[in-house]
Amino acid sequence: MRKHRIAAIPGDGIGKEVVAAGVEALTALAALDGGFELEFEHFDWGSDYYKGTGLMMPADGLEKLKPFDAIYFGSVGAPDLPDHITLWGLRLAICQPFDQYANVRPTRILAGIESPLRNAGVGDLDWVIVRENTEGEYAGQGGRSHRGHPEEVATEVAIFTRAGVRRIMRFAFQTAQARPRKFLTVVTKSNAQRNGLVMWDEIAAEVAKEFPDVTWDKMLVDAMTVRMTMKPRSLDTIVATNLHADILSDLAAALAGSMGIAPTANLNPERQFPSMFEPIHGSAFDITGMGIANPIGTFWSGQMMLEHLGEQAAADRLMRAIETVAANKALHTPDLGGNARTADVTAGLIAAL
Ligand code: NAD
Ligand code: MN
Repeated sequence: MRKHRIAAIPGDGIGKEVVAAGVEALTALAALDGGFELEFEHFDWGSDYYKGTGLMMPADGLEKLKPFDAIYFGSVGAPDLPDHITLWGLRLAICQPFDQYANVRPTRILAGIESPLRNAGVGDLDWVIVRENTEGEYAGQGGRSHRGHPEEVATEVAIFTRAGVRRIMRFAFQTAQARPRKFLTVVTKSNAQRNGLVMWDEIAAEVAKEFPDVTWDKMLVDAMTVRMTMKPRSLDTIVATNLHADILSDLAAALAGSMGIAPTANLNPERQFPSMFEPIHGSAFDITGMGIANPIGTFWSGQMMLEHLGEQAAADRLMRAIETVAANKALHTPDLGGNARTADVTAGLIAAL
C-alpha cells in the first residue's frame, strides 16, 4: 500500500476547525480508496504556541517538517498579536526556506454557488492564478530608521531576480499549456514600476518563445481588476507578482462566491522540499469557535495535495464530492447564505465520497 506522510499544521482561529474537517475527510477518502494510506502528524504551532514560547514554531521546526511528503496548513493570525509576527513566524517561515516558489490558486464558480457577478455562472469563471511566492514585494527587504521621530523612514524594497522571474514564468506557461485553452495572461505594472516589472515583461516575452502553442497577453494590474469583473470569460491562466496575485486571488475568490471555497498550493516543483496546501482564507476572527467555517477551501486544498502526491483517482473522486456538496443548498454554510455547520458539510462530503 502506498503511504504518504502529511504534517498537519492547523495554526490559528478557524484554521483549527477546517483542518480537523479536512483530515477527517481525507482519512475517510483514503479508507474508501484502499490503495493508499495517509499518515497525519499534528503540529500545534501558531499563536498559542507563541504565547507559551515566544516562537511561532520551534527552532528546529523546518528539520521536523522536511521528511514529510506534504504539509496541510490552516491559517495563522490572532487578534491579540501583530499580523507580521504571526505571518513571518510560521507561514512565510515555511514557504521561503522550502522554496515553495509557485503558489497556485484555482478558482471556479461551482454549480450551486452564487457569484456576486450578475449573469456569471458555472463555466464563466474558470481560472488558475499563479503567484510568485518567494520574492517581489514580500521579499522582506527593508528597514526602519529614526523610529518614533518625525523623520522616521521605512523602506519596503521589492526584489525581482532574473532566476526567480524566469522560473515562475516557466511554471505559469506550463500550467497554461496543460489546460484546454492554453492561454496565459501576464499581469504587470510596468508603466509605474519601471525596473522590476519591465524586467518581468521582458522575461515573459523570452519564456513565451519556449511555448509556441500557448497564447498570451499582458494586463496592467489595475485594469486587470476591471477585466476580472467585467469579462471573466476572457481569462484562463494568470501569472502575477507576489503582491499583485495576493490581491487578485482574493478578488477571484470573492467573485467565485466565497473566501471559504478557494484553495491554494505552495509548490516546490522540483520536490526538494515538501509542498504546502491550504485554504486561501485567514483565521476569520469574526466566526472563530462558532462551528460555521466553510471547510470547502480546505477540502479543495486536500484535492490539490492528493494530485501532488500522485493520487489522481482519489483527487478526482474528492473533486466530484466537493461539487456534490456545493450543489446542495442544505449544506451551505452562512458565508454562502445557508445555515449548515462545518460538521454538516464534512458529513455531507464523506457521504458524497
Ligand atoms: P479572513 O480570511 O480571515 O476573513 C475575511 C472574511 O472572510 C471574514 O468575514 C471571514 O469570516 C470570512 N471567511 C474567511 N474564511 C471563511 C470560511 N472558511 N468560512 C466562512 N467565512 C470565511 O481575512 P482577515 O480578516 O483579513 O484576516 C484575519 C487574520 O487571518 C489576520 O490575522 C490575517 O493576518 C490572517 N490571515 C492569514 C492567512 C494565512 O494564514 N494564509 C491568510 C489571510 C489572512
Ligand atoms: Mn492573501
